[in-house]
Amino acid sequence: MAVSDAPRQADLDRCVHCGLCLNACPTYRELHVEMDSPRGRIYQMVQVANGAPITDAYQRHIDLCLACRACETACPSGVKYGRLVEAARADIEQRVPRPLGARLLRNLIFERLLPSRTNLRLAGAALRFYQASGLQKVMSHVLPARLRELESLAPKVESPSFFRNMGAVFPAKGERKYRVAFLSGCIANLCFARLNEATVRVLQVNGCEVTIHSDQTCCGALHVHAGLRDPARRLARQNIDALLGIDGVDGGFDAIITNAGGCGSTLKEYDELLEHDPQYANRAKRWVGLVKDVNEFLASIELNPQMGEVRATLTYQDSCHLAHGQKVRSAPRQLLQRVPGLTLKKMRMSDMCCGSAGIYNVVHTDMAMALLEKKMESVNATGAERIATANPGCMLQLRAGVERFGRGQRVSHVVEILDEAYKKFSE
Ligand code: SF4
Ligand code: SF4
Repeated sequence: MAVSDAPRQADLDRCVHCGLCLNACPTYRELHVEMDSPRGRIYQMVQVANGAPITDAYQRHIDLCLACRACETACPSGVKYGRLVEAARADIEQRVPRPLGARLLRNLIFERLLPSRTNLRLAGAALRFYQASGLQKVMSHVLPARLRELESLAPKVESPSFFRNMGAVFPAKGERKYRVAFLSGCIANLCFARLNEATVRVLQVNGCEVTIHSDQTCCGALHVHAGLRDPARRLARQNIDALLGIDGVDGGFDAIITNAGGCGSTLKEYDELLEHDPQYANRAKRWVGLVKDVNEFLASIELNPQMGEVRATLTYQDSCHLAHGQKVRSAPRQLLQRVPGLTLKKMRMSDMCCGSAGIYNVVHTDMAMALLEKKMESVNATGAERIATANPGCMLQLRAGVERFGRGQRVSHVVEILDEAYKKFSE
């Protein structure tokens, strides 16, 4: 029998409607509309669970949620809001047919592109040609304003891509203390290839042998956020088979590492995704025990102190899925504090969403830009020259923020700063 992915009654019942989450919610702070608050959205989910129809308005309110999970942090009753909104979206997906055009587009992105290395490579080559040939400049004069805006949010394709490292094993520098597997993402292999390389180097200098398993695939986070749980389950099974081995042959890794806060929270919830799968439920639990965000992992080991100076003032922006989803807040800050020469400037509301939220900034650009403008006011107020964060999607959004509202700040991932410091030591 097919399992319903709709919100569970027990999860809905946890909400006591106290409203303590409202002020933490970016969409509520922006719109002051109860139905665009966590409490209001849960109220609407309860109505639907009790038989109310799925209306266009319900879909809009659920869609406009960033799934940033700030309400989870604020909630004193332990409401698992992330699980609820993902379930509400899955329920809509299962029960409401989309128009043909939307179905085709979603199929193209979620089924044909993200899980396929070949198609990602082809799309990357086409996008790189567009960006590097001058065509993009020409088009910027003729594209309508909306398309120009979307284009300005598109990531730059880096060359060479990280795909060339699939199947490679990078030895530890010095004594091998750990064997880790690195999940390099899907689009990140094209657009954050240098970040992925920096991540591998930082792990190597910290005594890790790093395996980039050739059978790994997209983590499924974007699928889960879009309500596509069955395709996400297929990807989760493939990743588990790749890294934990098939037929009881264990991969033997000490940790499975990701450098993307957004991917990490889904990777750490494979047990929920596969709980009704008798073949994978136990292996998913073991998987979850091994997944670590790179910040979390590095802060948990004896960090190699051989770093040179990175003279800069820097402020840290939390990735929502790292801070609210995985509850990893102090690890990136601890790591940054270890970098000689770096002066950390505290940002007001550093865990308020920047508006990136997977593909949210493309789908709900107006709301995403309103949030980004506020975020950049907080960044500018710190006076820092650099911004660090822990998720590629946030890096893209913050770079767009610097261009539109910033003061020329440089945006980096925490591991890129560590990499810089290690390189400076050996110069
Ligand atoms: S989600 Fe939590 S904080 Fe928000 S209204 Fe419900 S119980 Fe209160
Ligand atoms: S996940 Fe974020 S946007 Fe959605 S209701 Fe919670 S705080 Fe608001």
